[in-house]
Amino acid sequence: MEYDVAIIGGGPAGSATALALKQQGISKILVVESGRYETIRIGESIPPDTRILLDELGILEDFLQEKHETCFGSCSSWGNDELGYNDFLFNPYGNGWHLDRRRFNAFLAQKAMEKGVELHCGTKVQSCDRIPSEGFQLQLVGEDKQTETVTTSFLVDATGARGSFAKSFGARKLFLDQLICAIAFFDLPPSSHFSKLTLLEAVEYGWWYVAKLPNNRLATVVASEPSIIRETGLHRIENWLAYLKETKHVSKELVDCSAIDSFSVSSTPQAKVPKIMACTAPSFRLDRTTGNGWLAVGDAASAFDPISSQGIYKALWDSLKAGKAIASYLHGDSRGLEEYESLISSRFDNYLTQRNYFYQMEQRWPTSPFWQRRQERTSLTNSELPLAIARIS
Ligand SMILES: Cc1cc2nc3c(=O)[nH]c(=O)nc-3n(C[C@H](O)[C@H](O)[C@H](O)COP(=O)(O)OP(=O)(O)OC[C@H]3O[C@@H](n4cnc5c(N)ncnc54)[C@H](O)[C@@H]3O)c2cc1C
Repeated sequence: MEYDVAIIGGGPAGSATALALKQQGISKILVVESGRYETIRIGESIPPDTRILLDELGILEDFLQEKHETCFGSCSSWGNDELGYNDFLFNPYGNGWHLDRRRFNAFLAQKAMEKGVELHCGTKVQSCDRIPSEGFQLQLVGEDKQTETVTTSFLVDATGARGSFAKSFGARKLFLDQLICAIAFFDLPPSSHFSKLTLLEAVEYGWWYVAKLPNNRLATVVASEPSIIRETGLHRIENWLAYLKETKHVSKELVDCSAIDSFSVSSTPQAKVPKIMACTAPSFRLDRTTGNGWLAVGDAASAFDPISSQGIYKALWDSLKAGKAIASYLHGDSRGLEEYESLISSRFDNYLTQRNYFYQMEQRWPTSPFWQRRQERTSLTNSELPLAIARIS
């Protein structure tokens, strides 16, 4: 099959880019996604102004029908033992949301299909080769190991932080930082009235956050350095729970809504023990996000510290800009790609300023390796990760 645009990765950036391309009148679009929108996905908070992007993509009304959990702002103990409040009461765009991420990703993919985008789920792009002056040839592999070859005039790398394909066209990652997040999801008791604010608490070894999700679920996350996670064993339930209990605000909130009861750790096989998922959260930008016939979007182009809660907003923003840049490229004008490249770069600079300011605000633990390292690493490096990714199994 021949396509105008093939998008590798059907996360928020891939699906939204497909929608944006449809708006630009591009007809033959393929999205290849290795998953099937069946497994848990992490990263749930989106700010109120995401509604502008969803509106621009033409899917705001349908998104509102999805009834994700509304979020009225955040409260945080950051730089101070007491909680400070930052609510969306006076935000012109109203509330933000805590998403069921699996459902949100599936929703975006569904909207793209409804507009005529071809979606291959459970299919991996195994390789991608440039065809002289004609675009790219992709080798697809299905779950049944069947292979298929397709060609495309333009290629979009939307593979997330791995950014697998941009690398093969010569792009390099400029690293800033790397965290590991240890996450547990659990069900709230039916009677609990958990706050609709995101709760954030800085601790000596990192930070915690809690967010209520749709269907009375709760996401509880601790973020730290790979080496600290390994030394403390925070990726194991017993340690995770012990550290959680020592937090001042997070543990209190969970006790108040009796959520902590479901954290009982017991050696009996019947006991309900929550699973801890550990995942890496790198901060970087590619040194180039576009090239002849390709570009990278979302986390494949640049990834932010999860403290920013900007990853999904960024993915949708990139997609709208990418849609316009690709359409003009296909019509013979490559200046759109240059503009896209410089937008991604200046947006990262803005993020860097905010991220550095935020980490500098916490001065309670001057000798803590976590805070020292966050405050030392304030700019991109040309080298590989500033620290080796620790094995944490
Ligand atoms: C712990 C943590 C907490 C976070 N919290 C938040 C938050 O609160 N708010 C927020 O906005 N953001 C948050 N983020 C960031 C957010 O999740 C990402 O920014 C967002 O998912 C980026 O979307 P994407 O489409 O670029 O990449 P992804 O969501 O990573 O999607 C990439 C897709 O590509 C597919 N893929 C990869 N390789 C191939 C291949 N070869 N062939 C086919 N398919 C492939 C993958 O299956 C995947 O579905 C968080 C991240 C972490 C790690």
